[in-house]
Amino acid sequence: MSERMSVIQGDITRVEVDVIVNAANSSLMGGGGVDGAIHRAAGPALLAACQVIRQHQGECAPGHAVITEAGNIPVKAVIHAVGPVWHGGEKNEAELLEQTYRNSLDLAAANSYRTIAFPAISTGAYGYPKELAAKIAVDTVYRYIGLRPLPEQVVFVCFDDENTHIYEQLLAQL
Ligand code: ADP
Repeated sequence: MSERMSVIQGDITRVEVDVIVNAANSSLMGGGGVDGAIHRAAGPALLAACQVIRQHQGECAPGHAVITEAGNIPVKAVIHAVGPVWHGGEKNEAELLEQTYRNSLDLAAANSYRTIAFPAISTGAYGYPKELAAKIAVDTVYRYIGLRPLPEQVVFVCFDDENTHIYEQLLAQL
């Protein structure tokens, strides 16, 4: 068990960290699931910030991430990370999901944020099998922080019982 990684069950908009990660879609214009919850909690300033980024760089491709203010959510920033849609596993999904986590961690570190919370990216509407996605999330974060001082703490925020159980098992094995 790495002391720098933990899992909690709940709503990511209520976690006390420096930065939370949103499982966004390529449009960056909001959506359902955790994306909807984050935009509702943040208020219209978040969508406005995403629109500015959209105007400058267009859509955000799977594997990539951008950072904005957090509106009314009491964290310093939101990282909007676009995970891959699951197409059966032969479309580079694993590499793209790993990239999504790495790029999010890079953004947090570049902004000197010490604590970050991730949802289980791609495991809702995007259909990524939960066990496989969790293994990539945990392994990628573990390798990343093993080489770097930041972020100091990574919290996996699981919404459902199944993901919570999977993450607990994986973290216990580290
Ligand atoms: P994706 O399109 O990347 O699959 P979803 O938002 O559909 O994104 O689902 C990603 C994960 O986020 C799912 O496991 C879902 O249960 C979870 N989730 C939904 N709402 C919240 C929330 N408020 N906080 C944390 N996780 C959430």
